Amino acid sequence: MTKLRLAIVGAGPAGIYAADILLKTERSFDVSIDLFEQLPAPYGLVRYGVAPDHPRIKGVINALRDVLDRGDIRIFGNVRFGEDITLADLKKHYNAVIFATGAIRDSKLDIPGIDADGSFGAADFVSWFDGHPDVPREWTLDASSVAVLGNGNVALDVARILAKHAEDLLPTEISDNVHAGLEASKVTDVHVFGRRGPAQVKFTPLELRELGELRDVDMVVYDEDFDYDDASLAAVASNKQVKVIDRVLQQWRTRPSANNAGGEASRRLHLHFWAKPVEIKTDAEGKVAAIVYERTEPDGSGGLRGTGELREIAIGQLYRAVGYFGSPLSDVPFDKKHGVIPNHEGQVLAKDSNQRVPGVYATGWIKRGPVGLIGHTKSDAMETVQHLVNDQGSWWQPEDPSDAAIPALLESRGVKWTDLAGWHRLDQHEIALGAPHERARVKVVPRDEMVRISRGE
Ligand SMILES: Cc1cc2nc3c(=O)[nH]c(=O)nc-3n(C[C@H](O)[C@H](O)[C@H](O)COP(=O)(O)OP(=O)(O)OC[C@H]3O[C@@H](n4cnc5c(N)ncnc54)[C@H](O)[C@@H]3O)c2cc1C
Repeated sequence: MTKLRLAIVGAGPAGIYAADILLKTERSFDVSIDLFEQLPAPYGLVRYGVAPDHPRIKGVINALRDVLDRGDIRIFGNVRFGEDITLADLKKHYNAVIFATGAIRDSKLDIPGIDADGSFGAADFVSWFDGHPDVPREWTLDASSVAVLGNGNVALDVARILAKHAEDLLPTEISDNVHAGLEASKVTDVHVFGRRGPAQVKFTPLELRELGELRDVDMVVYDEDFDYDDASLAAVASNKQVKVIDRVLQQWRTRPSANNAGGEASRRLHLHFWAKPVEIKTDAEGKVAAIVYERTEPDGSGGLRGTGELREIAIGQLYRAVGYFGSPLSDVPFDKKHGVIPNHEGQVLAKDSNQRVPGVYATGWIKRGPVGLIGHTKSDAMETVQHLVNDQGSWWQPEDPSDAAIPALLESRGVKWTDLAGWHRLDQHEIALGAPHERARVKVVPRDEMVRISRGE
């Protein structure tokens, strides 16, 4: 009987689901799986993207953990593909590799002033408030008025965390440095900008409704944004999700807020629709000072056009939440335009020729691009795994497929890798840190500390 020795790179949901699905797939060969993860903790963006005040979604971690705890997948944490281990290494020791490296960078937004001091990518801010070990510990929230660009769920996450009072985040798993940073925040007004109207947003009703429940935060919406065209009216009438979003926003139009002189909250969250940012103005020191946006309007066929009317709002910081973007991996084809590994249903293709690259597969956000929920990575993994199983004839023939080869290789390179037992140690440590304060956990942030605790050093 043939044996498939598979390497999976990336222990986010896509990588873990791919391993789980392969192990459960009916097949005529044995399987052994090694899962490589650059961080000392698994779960990818579920741990380092999903907002800390969304414990129900963070709960997906329990299902992913059950998969790892079965013990039939070897984990090598704190091992970075491209540095600690290469494609040549994988070819020497495995029959195939699935890349599930996701996306952690921000998409670019090309408007004048966007690189000014005080202008940030949402991904960096999210990584900070979710305690990612590779971003700086400090985040200065010294502006009273801030802008968030984008109308997806990440934009609403960022806006909510900026508007929320730090003490209301205390029951969550946020680390101490994040709580301190938020507590010192001077933010009073968060302005969210979307280029289209309320009927064309990308965020979901649940995320929107949650904003209205924030303590001491008034929601501010503007009547002029609700002059719906036929396409918007049709969307509200026919799409359940749009209908709920519209209902929530309509309620806010009549609720007391700074807009209609009734609001008493110390913080405000403004939603500006039909507003296309065109320039970020700076002060004499080059720091963000204002956002200039153009009013847009529906073009009658589902799109939008500029009206030429420019407006300006004073801001001191800016967060662009216009999408995530994948990163290239050494010796692996990469589509620079879309930020993905070029592939056909998960089978990786050479960059220019569309020829299959034998033995190399992709799944999750690095396969499909950074859209879709955690659940989508499961169907993604099914498709990729099915091809891997069917492609048995084109797998690599490794020179040294022994189980001992990888630990020996990492050891020889001085890589301090962590394993499943190490993850359990870190997990228990974080839970113990939270217990005296009745918190589910407190995240450990510095990488060296995570590694030290994991390795029991
Ligand atoms: C801010 C934010 C909030 C979100 N909120 C929700 C939500 O509420 N609900 C929901 O369903 N979905 C949410 N999502 C989407 C969800 O996180 C993604 O669908 C999912 O995480 C994608 O899974 P993935 O495994 O492809 O990528 P990731 O989760 O990014 O996992 C990739 C893994 O690969 C590792 N890796 C990368 N490069 C290397 C390398 N060179 N070597 C080794 N390892 C590497 C990374 O460290 C990471 O652990 C959110 C996303 C973001 C960005």
